[in-house]
Amino acid sequence: MPARQASFPGVSNAAGRLDDDATNVKRVSVLLPLPLAGAYDYLAPADIAEQLTPGAIVAVPLGSKERVGVIWDRPEECASGEEVPLAKLKFVIGRLPAAPLSEVQRKFVDWVAGYTLTPPGAVLKMVLSVPDALDAPTPLIAYRRADDWNDEDMRLTPARARVMKVLQDGPPRVASELAREAAVGASVIHGLASAGALEQVTLEPPSPFGAPDLARPSPVFSPDQGAIAADLAAKTSARAYSATLLDGVTGSGKTEVYFEAIAAALKEGRQALVLLPEIALSAQWFERFKARFGAAPAVWHSEVSPARRRATWRAAADGSARVIVGARSALFLPFHDLGVIIVDEEHDGSFKQEEGVLYSARDMAVVRAHLGAIPVVLVSATPSLESLVNAQGGRYAHLHLPDRHGGARLPDIELIDLRKNPPPRGQWLSPLLQARLTQTLESGGQAMLFLNRRGYAPLTLCRTCGHRLQCPNCTAWMVDHRGRSRLECHHCGHVMKLPEKCPSCNADHSWAACGPGVERLAEEAAILFPDARRAVMASDTLTSAQAADDLVRQVTDHEIDLLIGTQVVAKGHHFPGLTLVGVVDADLGLAGGDLRAGERTFQLLTQVSGRAGRADKPGHVCLQTYAPEHPVMQALAQGARDAFLAAEAESREAAGMPPYGRLAALILSGPDAAAVDAHARRLARIAPNDPNLRVLGPAPAPMSLLRGRHRRRFLLQAPKKYALQAAIRRWLAAAPEPAAVRVQVDMDPYSFF
Ligand code: ADP
Ligand code: ZN
Repeated sequence: MPARQASFPGVSNAAGRLDDDATNVKRVSVLLPLPLAGAYDYLAPADIAEQLTPGAIVAVPLGSKERVGVIWDRPEECASGEEVPLAKLKFVIGRLPAAPLSEVQRKFVDWVAGYTLTPPGAVLKMVLSVPDALDAPTPLIAYRRADDWNDEDMRLTPARARVMKVLQDGPPRVASELAREAAVGASVIHGLASAGALEQVTLEPPSPFGAPDLARPSPVFSPDQGAIAADLAAKTSARAYSATLLDGVTGSGKTEVYFEAIAAALKEGRQALVLLPEIALSAQWFERFKARFGAAPAVWHSEVSPARRRATWRAAADGSARVIVGARSALFLPFHDLGVIIVDEEHDGSFKQEEGVLYSARDMAVVRAHLGAIPVVLVSATPSLESLVNAQGGRYAHLHLPDRHGGARLPDIELIDLRKNPPPRGQWLSPLLQARLTQTLESGGQAMLFLNRRGYAPLTLCRTCGHRLQCPNCTAWMVDHRGRSRLECHHCGHVMKLPEKCPSCNADHSWAACGPGVERLAEEAAILFPDARRAVMASDTLTSAQAADDLVRQVTDHEIDLLIGTQVVAKGHHFPGLTLVGVVDADLGLAGGDLRAGERTFQLLTQVSGRAGRADKPGHVCLQTYAPEHPVMQALAQGARDAFLAAEAESREAAGMPPYGRLAALILSGPDAAAVDAHARRLARIAPNDPNLRVLGPAPAPMSLLRGRHRRRFLLQAPKKYALQAAIRRWLAAAPEPAAVRVQVDMDPYSFF
């Protein structure tokens, strides 16, 4: 760890014995980004303690290591006798140059920790996600002409003379820039510096983020759009908390409209945050942002390079990143002055983090907005039932954009009954869908096939004995990825070659691929439509963000006739020439009895369908299904979203399920099944006994083995106002987990795997 700028020299525990009434030292709380129960106490010399106000970022000793932490607010009741005596405490080592965390951010950390039942340090770790960013940025070394230098003093070579000329009236420049402008090698510059002709100066590195141009005009809005844009802008200028559900059909201009809320925040001199799912595939969104604001926003997600993350973290903290677009973790950036939060595609499941701290970025965005007294806008064409119920109950404002922009119509949706119109054996496209595709492609149109399954086939089995190739670490089949000549587990990443012999019956080359993935579909399409320009788009076939951008551009420019993809094609894209969408297996998401299976399938298929007919040509969607009478299919075909959601809401309310009741899951896992079961039984014996709280389980999780860990689940169900966290906290405190078993709490679970 580099030397800290503001360390306190000479301060150490050896400085003297401390009595509890010592006046020359102060006790401070420091929260460390580690899963500890709470903040730890440290000492600071009294004269320095003034600098160590809550939020200050400090280095402290922990064991034999130096750690970075944050001065935390000391709870009032802490002045009791339980404190560690002063004499046992260690001194803070020093303060780091990074800006302190604001009170709002500290409250947010505590709030998220309390809600999700995770240690506050684990949440703080998400805030301090770029430890290098906490040190002062490396200053740039630049050169200027030495004040007392006179060109006459030394006979200059032509190269040296060019350098001096460049600096004659220009600002200082870094060596590489100077060398380039003067067309000389680096050695010339070093030579001049050692001869005393040049002087070094240090410069603040420039912000890598361009300033948005607020003078640019908004688009010409329709009356509906204009009214909503004005409303969102007014809410943002009001500098107060508000929550709004922006509910409009695909292609209605929601993005253009919420840009006005961003513009309003920028006019207030504040920052804006946009949370987007699938951010790595959002090239079109960035184009539109640039068109509206004349500069790119700062981007935050896991694939951003370490140097860029460091710059972005700092720029969020010093306010020079004015608009940040990110995946869910962007919510934890240390904003200097956040003025509005937009959650685009608010219904999207990827806003729920399923590892580490289990939180919903959508829900926590609302909390963050509330703590920071700013507006939050939840945006979707297919809002979650949670948000709709909040809107209907008056907790959120509800704004509607019922029509597509520019008079484009929503696509017609046709259900293809696979029982009556089955595909030929070993194929997946029904004769009817084949005919629709032929018609579209032959008339020079563009089509898309959607199948939410990566790879070639989801299951490989032995024809002789029926043995199925399973992942050794997970309750999951190995997925055939023929393009890479191997099988992969989609849960733990385990890979294997297809064995020649069946490990069970020893039969030779007896494997059968069962069911389709997009790769297999592409094979079928190649036979049926050899002349169409085809492409596959799935998260694993796009090797880089650039490859994704390129493919999206090719589709937009109609250099591709037939696009075959997984859910990455479903979201956000605007393909103006696309008129036909074929959903190969509309029933896929309905299997499995998950609480939200119907809602989610409806949302996904609405999004996919929404890719068709966005410009002047009308769109048509074919849904292949074995259950055309299913309420989800009927709602899609009839465009009856609200009726579908009302029915869904009614059945959830009757069952006391979210959003009308609360759920929490307890997931126990460990490498030894017996130890996990023993702890599960122990918890079951002391489960809370309360007529208002239903405790289901323990039961093996659907993924009873995941990454080599055996998993058991409890599910808790309680009325909406029930103090569920407190009940779980008491329950778990009564049975501390053994070392080999991990207990995770998932509040408001979204997945039940
Ligand atoms: P949504 O976010 O609701 O799917 P978009 O904001 O993507 O809708 O709008 C769909 C398309 O219509 C985009 O290409 C967008 O630029 C365009 N558009 C929407 N509103 C306007 C407007 N008022 N003026 C010009 N173009 C618009
Ligand atoms: Zn696996």
